[in-house]
Amino acid sequence: MGSESKPLRIYMLPFFAQGHLIPLVNLARLVASKNQQVTIITTPSNAQTFDKTIQQDQAAGHHITVHIIQFPSTQLGLPPGVENLFSASDNQTAGKIAMAAHLLKPDIESFMKQNPPDVFIPDIMFTWSEQTSKDLRIPRLVFNPISIFDVCLIEAIKSHPEAFLSDSGPYHIPGLPHPLTLPIKPSPGFARVTESLVEAEKGSHGVIVNSFAELDEGYTEYYENLTGRRVWHVGPTSLMVENTKEKKQVNSNTNTNANDKHVSLAWLDTKEVGSVVYISFGSLCRLSNEQLKEIGFGIEASKHSFLWVVHGKEGEEDDNWLPKGFEERTKGENRGLLIKGWVPQALILDHPSIGGFLTHCGWNATVEAISSGVPMITMPGFGDQYYNEKLVTEVHCIGVEVGAAEWSMSPYDAKKTVVSRERIEKGVKSLMDSDGGGGEIRKRAREMKEKAWKAVQEGGSSQNCLTKLVDYLESVVVSKLGDQK
Ligand code: UDP
Repeated sequence: MGSESKPLRIYMLPFFAQGHLIPLVNLARLVASKNQQVTIITTPSNAQTFDKTIQQDQAAGHHITVHIIQFPSTQLGLPPGVENLFSASDNQTAGKIAMAAHLLKPDIESFMKQNPPDVFIPDIMFTWSEQTSKDLRIPRLVFNPISIFDVCLIEAIKSHPEAFLSDSGPYHIPGLPHPLTLPIKPSPGFARVTESLVEAEKGSHGVIVNSFAELDEGYTEYYENLTGRRVWHVGPTSLMVENTKEKKQVNSNTNTNANDKHVSLAWLDTKEVGSVVYISFGSLCRLSNEQLKEIGFGIEASKHSFLWVVHGKEGEEDDNWLPKGFEERTKGENRGLLIKGWVPQALILDHPSIGGFLTHCGWNATVEAISSGVPMITMPGFGDQYYNEKLVTEVHCIGVEVGAAEWSMSPYDAKKTVVSRERIEKGVKSLMDSDGGGGEIRKRAREMKEKAWKAVQEGGSSQNCLTKLVDYLESVVVSKLGDQK
């Protein structure tokens, strides 16, 4: 089967947040490169973040299009153009953007009724898609932007309440392929949210993840036994996409001209190999001024060079969230670069000068660091990131754990307690100092990168899985047609 048979019409529906949208758009491009007809359903502002890459794919002869649905801005009382969680800095705005995913149901259904696809692949956040697929009799697979490991860990936590009787950690979690410890008690609210999302996978033909089989070793089986659903590992999607292109381009979802070298990359060119710590807390986390200051003090005290990206401070004149004189001192010594705004993260992580990544452990950030062989210094911000930290520090041992001060469900709520400058300094030094003991972690990070690269080569696990996924979709459609005869 595969490339010779008639192309399938496949609709993909990404959720309105960069951590969801980037990997699902990558998946859309990958499936289109397998001679299928893919349509990405999205809203005007979200489309703008990736339309240039789609035009490039179209120019290369791939059948990929974007279908625009208007965002319900007026209904939600949101300013025009605010259509992605990246533009939100408070829970109310974020709640409205999440609500849009529900409000758009009638418009998306009406489009699907008029132009029925063969297969529907929505993000897990579109919980209504189960009923829609049933009503329209369209096979559905779900895209899950978090890791399968997280779902296993959440399930183990739920099944072992006795592990959490004490008021303070560490909490030892039994029942998983690896012994794991959580330093702080998870919020029951987060488990409920995740469970409701996993519920949304029900009735689907399986779940697609931005990961590779070797990274989830032991956990895929656990998940499949637990849910009875099949997992498709087609990641790291950013590497898979690179593999289908001849020349590496600037991060596919920034729409930046490949010839304009980003200021961060030009600055990294001036630094020694493996000498810089990249600091980023993803596209959503808005850390408190107190926490940002601790990071500033911690990185300065570590004496290591850094590239620090901060979101939510764009256009602000007042830098009172930085230690006094921080920028002058670190700039003067060419020791640090602070950027307020969007950066091409995948390319930064791939730059030879990067030696470590102080990260919030967003799933995409984690997979991107692994793809570049960059060891992590972990400091989770909210939600699934506390669990991703465990995969990094305790399962694969490719990072140093700084940890969090408390559990948070939201990227916007300031935590009452901050992670201290001393903890941050210690974490950075233990990875980056030549006598800090980070050698083994660095070696393991390189080995994991090798596995990721193998997975995306011809014959590798993710390439095979992508081919099998397309074959599977074809077989599902053929058997559905058979049923209708
Ligand atoms: N990202 C980027 N530049 C930025 C911030 C984020 O390219 O300045 C990308 C990053 O590479 C990743 C995604 O946005 O692909 C963020 O997803 P992740 O799961 O890491 O974290 P989230 O933002 O969802 O917390």
